[in-house]
Amino acid sequence: MDINTTDSSGNVTAAAEAVAMRFRAAGFAAADVMVLGPNERKKNLVVRLHGAGRHKPVLLIGHLDVVEARREDWSTDPFKLIEKDGYFYGRGSLDMKSGDAIMATTLLRMKREGYRPARDVILALTADEEGGCCNGVQWLLTTHRELIDAEFVLNHDGLVGYSITSEHGVPQQFALSATEKMYADYQLSVTNRGGHSSLPRPDNAIYQLAQGLLSIGRYSFPVELNEVTRGYFQRMAAASSGQAAADMRAVAGTPVDAQAVARLSRDPELNSLLHTTCVATRLNGGHANNALPQRAEAVVNCRILPGHSKEEVRQELIRVVSDPGITVRYVADDGTVSATAPAQRVLPPSPLLPQVVKPLESTVAAIWPGLPVVPFMNAGATDGIYTRAAGLPTYGVAGIAVDRDDMHAHGRDERVRVAAFYQGNLFYYRFLKALTAQ
Ligand SMILES: [Zn+2]
Repeated sequence: MDINTTDSSGNVTAAAEAVAMRFRAAGFAAADVMVLGPNERKKNLVVRLHGAGRHKPVLLIGHLDVVEARREDWSTDPFKLIEKDGYFYGRGSLDMKSGDAIMATTLLRMKREGYRPARDVILALTADEEGGCCNGVQWLLTTHRELIDAEFVLNHDGLVGYSITSEHGVPQQFALSATEKMYADYQLSVTNRGGHSSLPRPDNAIYQLAQGLLSIGRYSFPVELNEVTRGYFQRMAAASSGQAAADMRAVAGTPVDAQAVARLSRDPELNSLLHTTCVATRLNGGHANNALPQRAEAVVNCRILPGHSKEEVRQELIRVVSDPGITVRYVADDGTVSATAPAQRVLPPSPLLPQVVKPLESTVAAIWPGLPVVPFMNAGATDGIYTRAAGLPTYGVAGIAVDRDDMHAHGRDERVRVAAFYQGNLFYYRFLKALTAQ
């Protein structure tokens, strides 16, 4: 936590080296502890714990980099690990140096105990998940695939460093992330000849753009379920009661019940599971208080369901605003604006493999009796996009619990409950042991 790994002023290599030292000291062979990357600041750590070779390896991934944090925005120094009132505070305490520490500790413990897994366990702690030049997972997949090749991948990033949602410290559900939505930004713009504001006309760039945005605000993309979200609603229906349970059962069936969809969609989280979503996030227009606007612009941010492409969504936005005077363009991650968007579709969910789900369910049942394990789709993006694109089924699993109303990842005073961290550590050791028992 004390090693700053932000993109602006930090150094991921320093963190990778610090963890590598622990592995070497624990007796891992030099060839099984690799620190490598495209440049001096962005090196990744890859460690291998050898197994009996009964199956292809399992790959564990976690990112070492963290989101920027300014001292003046925080109550404590974000780059000092501080324990206070039952919490660990610091940038990365949840997203996700806690997870990196848990995975590393688990492998070190297995080594110390002389445990021989049924398959090799590979741990990759990597750079630039949060942004930056050199995403470590992508770099390893393209340049050193053999080092990290596996049957499937476990990503400790989970939802954002956790998998268990709790209320006042009481766990409610364990989310097994098996798919994620795709992020896309669009720019909507209107131009107008403008004029003097003392002589207004009906044609006005700001009004015209506003109408288009209101149409998007009123629009709901079609309901679409996949193996993962259908499984989510089935499991949640079984764990809920009353109207909510009935509605969840109704949306998991076919044909989909429109009234049930409407009721569930009022909850922003459930809404995000049922639909592609688009929302206006920025607005800019006009050039003087006393002039008719010559230009108005907005950014609309979308989260796209598996099976669809960014270009498809752009076409849909054009249809929804239904005004040829509003230009809808695509904004790439680096800010470049282009007339059309990539046609590549979001990958389908990873299949729910029994060799992952069974040990997960048995470990969760042993530690948190009665806690439902629900398949889940992340509304945000993780490094899982790269491993899934490379053909590796990928699951977000982290035994850390976070209260629904206490999610500070990426924000100020990021923290994790001390008890949740140690519980998550215990969980991971038992889970990985169950997963590699045969
Ligand atoms: Zn993360």
